[in-house]
Amino acid sequence: MKPGEGAWDVVVVGAGPAGLLAAGRAAMLGARVLLLEKMEKPARKLRITGKGRANITNMKALEEQLKEIQPEPRFLRQAFQAFFNRDLIALLEAQGVATKVERGDRVFPASDLAWDVADALVAWAGAQGVEILPHARVERLVIHEGVFTGLGVARKSSRTPLEIEARCGILATGGQSYPATGSTGDGYRFAEATGHRIEALRPSLVRIETRPVHEGAQGLTLKNVNLTLWIDGKKQASEFGEVEFTARGLAGASVLRLSRKGVDAMAAGRMVAMTLDLKPALDPAKLEARLARDLEAHVGGTCGPLLRSLLPTPLVAVFCERLGLGPSAPAAQIQGSKRKQLLGLLKELRFEVTGHGSWEEAIVTAGGVSLKDIDPRTMASRKVGNLHFAGEVLDLDANTGGYNLQIAFSTGWLAGESAARQAVGSWLGGASLTP
Ligand SMILES: Cc1cc2nc3c(=O)[nH]c(=O)nc-3n(C[C@H](O)[C@H](O)[C@H](O)COP(=O)(O)OP(=O)(O)OC[C@H]3O[C@@H](n4cnc5c(N)ncnc54)[C@H](O)[C@@H]3O)c2cc1C
Repeated sequence: MKPGEGAWDVVVVGAGPAGLLAAGRAAMLGARVLLLEKMEKPARKLRITGKGRANITNMKALEEQLKEIQPEPRFLRQAFQAFFNRDLIALLEAQGVATKVERGDRVFPASDLAWDVADALVAWAGAQGVEILPHARVERLVIHEGVFTGLGVARKSSRTPLEIEARCGILATGGQSYPATGSTGDGYRFAEATGHRIEALRPSLVRIETRPVHEGAQGLTLKNVNLTLWIDGKKQASEFGEVEFTARGLAGASVLRLSRKGVDAMAAGRMVAMTLDLKPALDPAKLEARLARDLEAHVGGTCGPLLRSLLPTPLVAVFCERLGLGPSAPAAQIQGSKRKQLLGLLKELRFEVTGHGSWEEAIVTAGGVSLKDIDPRTMASRKVGNLHFAGEVLDLDANTGGYNLQIAFSTGWLAGESAARQAVGSWLGGASLTP
């Protein structure tokens, strides 16, 4: 069947990871499925994930993965049970994409190419019988007496909008970060226009802006440091790992992981700060002893070389500035209160958080279609009949580690399965349930 010829069983909006899995699963169960994608190529965002390597999932157990998810991890239990990390790996391996597990149980394609994953999923969906229509931008949903019946689509090749009828619809339009990939938040507008609540949208997994800015340290990446988030003077959370100094603040894995709480607190007008423990392996007593040894070794010397023995070179100027001492000041000046201050700075180098990166650079969108309006057993809307949701359009987001893609794959699979059951009925009982 071609687009425009009669009614489809299932129409899926958005060919990202959620839409591809939803469409493929529905077609696998015998539904006639049309997948609409507004961009020229499906899965543009997936192709740039994990710095082009795609951290597709994580090998942690289900309960452990749920802990990485916000705001309501329990919502995902059925979706994860329906399709989880090993199912994804099996599906990809059957398509010829081998995978490997790295530090932190993160799973990547063995080729280190996100592109391979995207192409494999497109091929898999096609092999299930999904018709993929690129350059097809959905503009509105058609709802008749509270039930989804189709949608209106603008096509690049034609001035006349295409009206598509379908028994079931699945919205998998993604979030609104990295809009150049096609994820421009259209799904939120469709959902809101059809009576769904939208939880406030915020950029998440994003760099932060800080005061003071240390231009000399720009480009420095610190590994094995401990970063702590403070809100209104109270310690909130800490992350051990990598922190980068940027032109306007801090970035890197630890910053991204703390960014969600920080962004929310800033939006609520609260005071946000971050502190860096540059010597997490040394407790205060051990650090004191280490400093005493270094001071001894630099008797008669200056602050610059002394600080270099304790710090990466780009941070020496930062410390001199904060201590109010020039690099050529005698090291002997680091006594009494200055010595205490230096010990404090090494354990708690403080930055005020003044802002965060924009939608263009956020990895995910926090907020979205309210989970209260979605049935977690089926991903079906509680507001509109025959309409399902999957992926980042939902009010779900997670830490770095492959969890965001697993959310998209799992909710997509479950939405596709439920939509197919609804559209083509009970004879599906005997159909294969494995990828
Ligand atoms: C730089 C970057 C790196 C990332 N790295 C990782 C990682 O390594 N691991 C991880 O787990 N997560 C990662 N993520 C997050 C992950 O990519 C997303 O969570 C995931 O892609 C969400 O999948 P989705 O299918 O819900 O939405 P999307 O991937 O956003 O796909 C939605 C699709 O819908 C289409 N669409 C939107 N509106 C319409 C419309 N009106 N009509 C037709 N089509 C429409 C869009 O063009 C798009 O193709 C990363 C994100 C970014 C930006």
